[in-house]
Order: sequence, then structure tokens, then C-alpha cells
Amino acid sequence: MKTLTVSVVTPDGPVLEDDFEMISCKAENGELGILPGHIPMVAPLTISSVRLKRGSDEEKIAVNGGFLEVRPDKITVLAQSAEKPSEIDVTRAEKAKERAEQLLQSNQDQVDFQRAELALKRAMNRLDLAK
Ligand code: ATP
Repeated sequence: MKTLTVSVVTPDGPVLEDDFEMISCKAENGELGILPGHIPMVAPLTISSVRLKRGSDEEKIAVNGGFLEVRPDKITVLAQSAEKPSEIDVTRAEKAKERAEQLLQSNQDQVDFQRAELALKRAMNRLDLAK
């Protein structure tokens, strides 16, 4: 089976670089499944998980938005943050989820609801992947 090199990079440095047969992710326009030889493209990603398949192995990475860049034999995921399941601190994500939920339920004028919603999405995405 043909493979392509996938590189996941954040401002803190590289998270993963390896060869896979397929990458699946959630772009803002919908689900994408990319195989080797795909036409070059760039797509904005949602707060979601990126799935990387090779044989019967599947690796998952929680990404916080960012971009997917596809070239014929290389894919780069450039995200503000990206974590493998084993790197996710569940207690931290649970606390972040509670904090965001409390902010969203409060009626205070100064709460930035959009920011709280994004924080809730990041926390739920991490919790989904860690479980
Ligand atoms: P928190 O409020 O707990 O900081 P956050 O969603 O605001 O969560 P981010 O700004 O997305 O955090 O990420 C900041 C850094 O912390 C990134 O390097 C990210 O990978 C890491 N990070 C955030 N939450 C977790 C977690 N639950 N487990 C592991 N790493 C995390």
C-alpha cells in the first residue's frame, strides 16, 4: 500500500512525523479522507481529531483548528495545539470544560461567549480522544 508522510506541527514544535496510508480529518467544509496522490490543497480544520491509518493501526491526534496542507506525497497539519491521547491531561480538560460551562451559563455582560464556546469545544475534543 502506498503511503504519504504526515507531519503535525504546532508553535511549540513538531508533534508527529511518520508515514501513513490515509488521513481523515474534519475541515470547516466537512470530513476529508486523503490518500497518497491527492491533489494539492489547503483546508482550514475544526477543533476535532485527526485520524492517521496504516494497516490495522490508527493514530489519533486532537487538534485545535489550524490548517491542513496537502501535497502529493506529504501532508502538513499546522495547528495552534495538537495532542496525542497519551499526552492529554484529563483532569485539566475536565476543569477547562467546567470553567467554560460556568461562563456560558452565567449572565454576566463581560463574558466573551465565543471564547468560552471555543474553550468548551477544545476541552470536549480532548476528553473525547482521551477516553
Ligand atoms: P487550559 O484552559 O487548560 O489551558 P486551553 O484549551 O485553553 O486549556 P490551549 O490554549 O488550547 O489550552 O493549549 C495551550 C497548551 O496547553 C497547548 O500546548 C496544549 O497542547 C496544552 N494543553 C491544553 N490542555 C491540555 C490538556 N488537557 N492536556 C494536555 N495538554 C493540554
